[in-house]
Amino acid sequence: EVKENGTNDFKIYNNGMNDKTIEKIKMENDLRRAIGASELTIHYQPKFHAKTNLLLGAEALVRWNHPTLGLISPGKFIPLAEETGLIIQLEEWVLESVCEQIKKWEYTSVDYGRISVNISHIHFYQSDLVQTISQILSKNGLAANCLEIEITETMMMHNESETNKTLQKLREIGIEVSMDDFGTGYSSLGYLHKLSIDRLKIDKSFIHEMYKNEAIVSTIIAMAHHLQLKVIAEGVETDEQLNLIMKLGCEEIQGFYFSQPLSSHDFETQILKPLLIS
Ligand code: C2E
Ligand code: MG
Ligand code: MG
Ligand code: MG
Repeated sequence: EVKENGTNDFKIYNNGMNDKTIEKIKMENDLRRAIGASELTIHYQPKFHAKTNLLLGAEALVRWNHPTLGLISPGKFIPLAEETGLIIQLEEWVLESVCEQIKKWEYTSVDYGRISVNISHIHFYQSDLVQTISQILSKNGLAANCLEIEITETMMMHNESETNKTLQKLREIGIEVSMDDFGTGYSSLGYLHKLSIDRLKIDKSFIHEMYKNEAIVSTIIAMAHHLQLKVIAEGVETDEQLNLIMKLGCEEIQGFYFSQPLSSHDFETQILKPLLIS
């Protein structure tokens, strides 16, 4: 907030900060306010088993409906949230909201599978994540097998045993862990087999140009299977991509081919309700 009682404050702004900095501070304040207010919402994108069309679950993806700027994509505000530390509050809100939503879906008696939540490396290392999640689960009377955590390869830059300690704790209580955007980051393959995870999530950039990347994708799938990890393809949009990825032995699919991320209401009516009838 800009103080209006002293000219010195304005001087500092005028001399020391450019428009970009001021814009950023404004956005930070907006985001701080938005968390917990009704400006943030979560969309759910279903994941399917390719051969059987069985619903495996969904990924929870946060959206920000800014009062004046309109819809802002997470690609824009997640980095800001990470820079300012707001990511911890934000993701705790996501975890709370997802669990409250799951609780509602529990009553429909449809098997919604597992709902995955993206967790930033900042959050992963700066808070007692496992305890927080356990508390949220028990508050809602949920078992941990309704949740999955998606982390990225940034984890690999951190201390290996510290990383594994948290990963193991998550998996011990029954939460699955997936390595998101796999192939785009700091993949040290020597590190991968030591990490306590359940699944690799092949980055959508490889899927979008499958014909170019067939060798890479097929290697990732073979490696995942060799390490006894599950594997999912994200960003599947076309028949061609679906057929090729299935041919290469990847059975879990997420992408616009099946569905865009949906509001909780649309997820319920378009994805869950039809399962109830059949
Ligand atoms: P992500 O975790 O890799 O999520 C998948 C992104 O790919 C989503 O973008 C989704 O809408 C998009 N996508 C899914 N299928 C397709 C497809 O077939 N084609 C294309 N072109 N895109 C597809 P979205 O929702 O904009 O999210 C972007 C990123 O923001 C996410 O990437 C994730 O890294 C981050 N994010 C979202 N919510 C959270 C959160 O609560 N915490 C953290 N740390 N990151 C989040
Ligand atoms: Mg993800
Ligand atoms: Mg991804
Ligand atoms: Mg990501």
